[in-house]
Amino acid sequence: MTIKTDVVIVGAGPVGLFQVFELGLQGLSACVIDALPQPGGQCTELYPDKPIFDIPAVPECTGQQLTDNLLKQISPFNPGMHLDQSVDTLEKRGEEDFYLKTSAGTEFECRAVVVAAGAGSFTPVRVRIPDIEKYENTQLLYRVRDPLQHAGKDIVVLGGGDSALDWAIQLAPAAKSLTLVNRTERFRAAQSSVDKLNAMAAAGEANVLMGTLNGFTEQDEILTGVSFTLRDEEKTQVTLPVDDLLVFFGLSPKLGPIEHWGFELERKMITIDLSTFETSVKGIFAIGDINTYKGKKKLILSGFHEAAMAAYAIKQQFEPDMKLNVQYTTTSPLMHERLGVDADTTTT
Ligand SMILES: Cc1cc2nc3c(=O)[nH]c(=O)nc-3n(C[C@H](O)[C@H](O)[C@H](O)COP(=O)(O)OP(=O)(O)OC[C@H]3O[C@@H](n4cnc5c(N)ncnc54)[C@H](O)[C@@H]3O)c2cc1C
Repeated sequence: MTIKTDVVIVGAGPVGLFQVFELGLQGLSACVIDALPQPGGQCTELYPDKPIFDIPAVPECTGQQLTDNLLKQISPFNPGMHLDQSVDTLEKRGEEDFYLKTSAGTEFECRAVVVAAGAGSFTPVRVRIPDIEKYENTQLLYRVRDPLQHAGKDIVVLGGGDSALDWAIQLAPAAKSLTLVNRTERFRAAQSSVDKLNAMAAAGEANVLMGTLNGFTEQDEILTGVSFTLRDEEKTQVTLPVDDLLVFFGLSPKLGPIEHWGFELERKMITIDLSTFETSVKGIFAIGDINTYKGKKKLILSGFHEAAMAAYAIKQQFEPDMKLNVQYTTTSPLMHERLGVDADTTTT
């Protein structure tokens, strides 16, 4: 059965979620599709427990809290959420109709599409040691879902960027042992994190080594150790005991099928018209980290603004003869009706 809706949003990151809200205020229905099993994009996939400080009027919230609040905010508009499936096909059929199909076989028809696909589908850069992939999702992990899960364990963290150092610093106090191994003495993380980890190492609370992973040991289908060639003159070989191997080599952005949907790209990002956020294909809009324009800042708040601009443009495209005025959610009865609130009884 094909699902019919006004707008399909590709990507349930913070910006795609907020797009639902802005479309809802315009009286437009939306479905959201994401390749990940949970909404929130980078916020829930990469830093669910880390605090964000630059969301206007929210002094501090974690990536997960921001996502939970967005889901609450869009709930009056009851969007169709289609997770764990990527949009593989996007076709324009006629002047105003689009057809989309996901990897799960779900089909959609809509009048406009908003691509809010961030950096594309997330693909962590993986370790390249033969056969180690069999421990993926059990002992070889590319993200931390629950920090408590690692308490009391021998942890080895690979990488030298912010994620590697942040997690090493956070997990070390409760770990049985924690060793961070970076390829070189040069870290890509914030200097304050490097200083903190070095201080922890000096105090015996963590270990820091420079070396390259070259193998692993196992017993009864359990990963027991990881071996490294150190960067000293002797190229010393060490094997560290390991329960959990956490790898933070970064994400390789994979645009995937988006690359073939026919709009103009610039360095793998979608160019847009700044007044509407429409791509070079009429009826397809692009917001958030996926788009590019002069002065673009890849920030959540920029994406929120872009979502509002796109919603107005889509409404105007659907109803070209309509004079579209800005309506305040504070005072507009129409906005209250769409939000399902009774402003007279709503208190702060
Ligand atoms: C460690 C870290 C800390 C950060 N801290 C801040 C901060 O403090 N403040 C700030 O403003 N920004 C911060 N950012 C940046 C911020 O997270 C991004 O700007 C924001 O997530 C962009 O939102 P988005 O919705 O455009 O894209 P994303 O969050 O990347 O979401 C895009 C979604 O689209 C999905 N997708 C892609 N292709 C497809 C497809 N074909 N089919 C289905 N789904 C698809 C992806 O799975 C993903 O879930 C941080 C980023 C990182 C990595």
